[in-house]
Amino acid sequence: MSTPLTAFLAEHEDEVLEAWSRAVQATTSHHYADRGIEELRAYAVEALGCVRSALRSSLPGPHEPAPSGSDPAACTPLRVIQPEAGVHVQMRAVRGSTSDVRAGQGEIVRYVSRLAAFRMRQGFTETETVTALLRGREVIGQLVVPHYEGDELVQVERALDDVFHRIVAAYGQTFCALCSQQMTEDRVRAERRLESVLEESADAIIFFDADRIVRSWNRGAALIFGYQPGEIIGLSIDLLVPEEILASGEIEKLMAALGAAGQARLAETQRIAKNGRRVWVDANFTTVRDPDGRPQGAWAVMRDLTERRRIQEANLQAERLALIGTMSAKLAHEIRNPIGSVSLNLDLLRDELQDIKAGRQSNSQESLGLLRSIENELGRVQRVIEDYLRFARLPSVRLRDLSLNHLLEEHVPFLTPAFEQQKIRLQLDLGEELPEMRADADQLWQALLNLLRNAIEAMPEGGTLTVSTRALNGNIVCRIRDTGQGMSAERIEKMWKPFWSTKRGGTGLGMPLAQQIVAEHGGSIDCESQEGKGTVFTLTLPLAPAVGAPAS
Ligand code: ADP
Ligand code: MG
Repeated sequence: MSTPLTAFLAEHEDEVLEAWSRAVQATTSHHYADRGIEELRAYAVEALGCVRSALRSSLPGPHEPAPSGSDPAACTPLRVIQPEAGVHVQMRAVRGSTSDVRAGQGEIVRYVSRLAAFRMRQGFTETETVTALLRGREVIGQLVVPHYEGDELVQVERALDDVFHRIVAAYGQTFCALCSQQMTEDRVRAERRLESVLEESADAIIFFDADRIVRSWNRGAALIFGYQPGEIIGLSIDLLVPEEILASGEIEKLMAALGAAGQARLAETQRIAKNGRRVWVDANFTTVRDPDGRPQGAWAVMRDLTERRRIQEANLQAERLALIGTMSAKLAHEIRNPIGSVSLNLDLLRDELQDIKAGRQSNSQESLGLLRSIENELGRVQRVIEDYLRFARLPSVRLRDLSLNHLLEEHVPFLTPAFEQQKIRLQLDLGEELPEMRADADQLWQALLNLLRNAIEAMPEGGTLTVSTRALNGNIVCRIRDTGQGMSAERIEKMWKPFWSTKRGGTGLGMPLAQQIVAEHGGSIDCESQEGKGTVFTLTLPLAPAVGAPAS
């Protein structure tokens, strides 16, 4: 089909392209102003091609109402593959014109979709691109005026309006379709990435609803607990909780914390796998709420601590064995010395007894003295062996929930006779509302007792012993202060060594044992001391240690 406009474009192509690209560069946004004239010319070539193909197709009436530019509801889907953009674009063509998608229409759609994808990638807005297209309308409009007049000019102007109207409308539709397409694709991609992170995570990631019914169960959860999603989704998450933990109210506390703060953490707790195996886990919970703020359930992220715990235990065990090894070498020495002096004393005693028997001596005073020293040496040997065995046979810690205040209130009274005998004033300063902690009661008391004994022994002339407890930053801090003889810096350093003692009959094992026990609770002991003034021991114990054997 030939129109005066087609004829004009064929004849004045170079002129049109030149004027169009200059007009775009000079009069549109900085996005275009920054581009070289050659690039803009190439763009104008394509645009002109599109104008021509639009002219070739049989045009609908020039004054057909314009479809609204960006309402996707007014669009009919048309699948176009967009190789240049590297994506499959679900395109929408203008409703009403899909029925007669002829060659020219198809080309318009292809052109505008390529343009839309390209412009979108380059960061142009829809308005900027449309303005650049309309510059073409202006340029051609001005160029035709000297060539036509009367009816012919009117016909050319109408054809121009119609062609640009259709291109611009198709561009608007396409641009809006592409934008929403890209948004959906980005969202889908992000969701997929998130999903695969959740799914592939080695941690158990579980969603349970407000009734504690499992709704989502990832691969990590299947690996840790042995249930496949199909076996547990729809069942209560309490299925994983050991009976004694259910009975202890841990879950109620957890749900209360989740309701109040929206988040909760169980630092070290047990769950039961499908095969009945106990699994140590660290668990973090986050509440999910609906738009009105009502809790819909919670995400639980659980990390399997079993392996870490096994390694830590193996390390502790190895350390302890090494220590016991060096200790037994010293132990021989610790026993040989007193046994040497015992046999020396026995020889002396034999001489004494022979003297008495022979009537050379009637006084048994010296013999009694020798006996007493034999007794002392043997007593020390016995204590060393007992302390050593206590050390060597120290079982792995068995953690339970306990209140340190109760532990002290329960055991300290047994020391009252020693306090009275040595005129020691006891001050118990137990922090109020001290949280419970996970600890091995027997062993923790063993450690405290060693510190208390040393404090008592450091105050032979009497003094004040203060025991205080406080909660601080997720730890429990216990201080034992005496007003005794104190220690030099050098002594403080030596004090931790096995068998190092400044006391007659001391074993030198009290401090190393206390240190070992506190270390197995994940805590530490600090010492501050001033000679002649006294000593403070500070025990810092985590509420829930990351190490230690399961309570049984
Ligand atoms: P022992 O009590 O058998 O001597 P320990 O290991 O319990 O062995 O203590 C080692 C040494 O540390 C003690 O002999 C003492 O010199 C010093 N020591 C420990 N606690 C105190 C304290 N509260 N005041 C002064 N010295 C202390
Ligand atoms: Mg001691």
